[in-house]
Amino acid sequence: MSDARPSITSTLPTLPSAVRDVYAQAMLRNPHEPEFHQALHEVLDSIAPVIERHPEFAEAGILERLVEPERQIMFRVPWIDDTGRLRVNRGFRVQFNSALGPYKGGIRFHSSVNLSIMKFLGFEQIFKNALTGQGIGGAKGGSDFDPHGRSSGEVMRFCQSFMSELYRHIGEHTDVPAGDIGVGGREIGYMFGQYRKITNRHESGVFTGKGVGWGGAQVRTEATGYGAVFFAEEMLGTRGDSIAGKRVAVSGSGNVAIYAIEKVTQLGGIPVTASDSTGYIVDDAGIDIELLKQVKEQDRLRISEYAARRPSARFVEGGNVWEVPVDVAVPSATQNELSPTDAETLIANGVLAVAEGANMPCFPGAIAAFQAAGTLFAPGKAANAGGVATSALEMSQNHSRQRWSFDDSETRLRDIMRNVHTAAFDASERYGAPGDYVLGANSVAFERVAQAMLAQGVI
Ligand code: NDP
Repeated sequence: MSDARPSITSTLPTLPSAVRDVYAQAMLRNPHEPEFHQALHEVLDSIAPVIERHPEFAEAGILERLVEPERQIMFRVPWIDDTGRLRVNRGFRVQFNSALGPYKGGIRFHSSVNLSIMKFLGFEQIFKNALTGQGIGGAKGGSDFDPHGRSSGEVMRFCQSFMSELYRHIGEHTDVPAGDIGVGGREIGYMFGQYRKITNRHESGVFTGKGVGWGGAQVRTEATGYGAVFFAEEMLGTRGDSIAGKRVAVSGSGNVAIYAIEKVTQLGGIPVTASDSTGYIVDDAGIDIELLKQVKEQDRLRISEYAARRPSARFVEGGNVWEVPVDVAVPSATQNELSPTDAETLIANGVLAVAEGANMPCFPGAIAAFQAAGTLFAPGKAANAGGVATSALEMSQNHSRQRWSFDDSETRLRDIMRNVHTAAFDASERYGAPGDYVLGANSVAFERVAQAMLAQGVI
């Protein structure tokens, strides 16, 4: 990550008049929520042409309702650490919009979690889920609990306490959580177990990202990372190009990053970086995916350990992965990890395409720089939609008590990402900016949600 982080508000350009009042009101009603403001701004900026073309949306107050979560829940999460000390964290679930289906969105455990971050993620999730075309609404949840350095017993006790409150707000037809930063298969197992005990129901469809042996779907673990690379492949395809032979920078070394790296390798590309909050590794020979999985998934160690075990790699402490020359970038760690300066560096190094594996990893100024330079750019709500889309496949399998094979599930994921790409690209053409995937993804997703809200009346 860059040392000099721009402030979020300083990088926001002005908004078109069709949406300015809604944004101004939302800023006033939700002060001190910079990430939420940033997400609102990005969406409102690109849907102004849709509002102008559809006056019925403005007349029905769709935007005013859309920017207000349907429900937001905050709760105390007390738990006992291994030394016997009582700890208290804060839990959240923001159920943003259910016009298209039950709420759906991940749970994040990270020390930075607050209401602003939950609302930005929940708001983005509405549009991402709409893009998948699978009948799911948008939500997000989490806690400021930091699992780093905690024993499995501590993580389990925390998850049980968290679920002792959350269970009453979720259900397979109400709200279906999944994983996100700090929440993988282990945490989902603990939360699902507590839900089952409290409710006395083995309700598989209440969580996605479950273990394959107890209701989980094939390819869910891989889906977000694989999907982001499929989306990059689709974008490159519009210019007669592909991932094969390309050097690719991936940031992060968690769920999304690991499987983005794996898919790049499978498509004949050369993934050369991975990172965590301590720094990054660069491996010009191409990242050894089995070693990366061993270090991060099995041994749960820092990314520097990869370089310690791999002669062709080096670790750059506190460094910024975007300084490495590459053809394709897949930011897959966290929000606001790629600054305008980072974008200029990537552009100067000849980057062809950027696909956001993470949610909102690029600052607005970085996105503007990529678009001005003609770099193919995919926003997270399109590029990382493969995760939630495969979660919806998991829900379908749970409801119908079916189990699809890995190959079948991956083919479905590939088709979904192709459809998401086509929908975003076609909408960018319809609204007069072919290849602007930010405009395309936001406008087609907004159209779908707005039509549903219009049909369902003022609720
Ligand atoms: P993980 O917890 O598995 O991995 C996150 C990775 O990013 C870790 O390497 C972590 O390093 C790094 N990271 C997180 N926060 C920071 C930070 N503040 N500074 C530097 N590095 C950081 O999370 P996921 O891979 O699941 O999620 C990554 C991104 O993808 C998030 O934006 C998430 O919302 C998004 N996403 C995830 C989906 C999924 O299916 N998992 C679906 C769609 C989007 P460290 O361990 O040092 O903190």
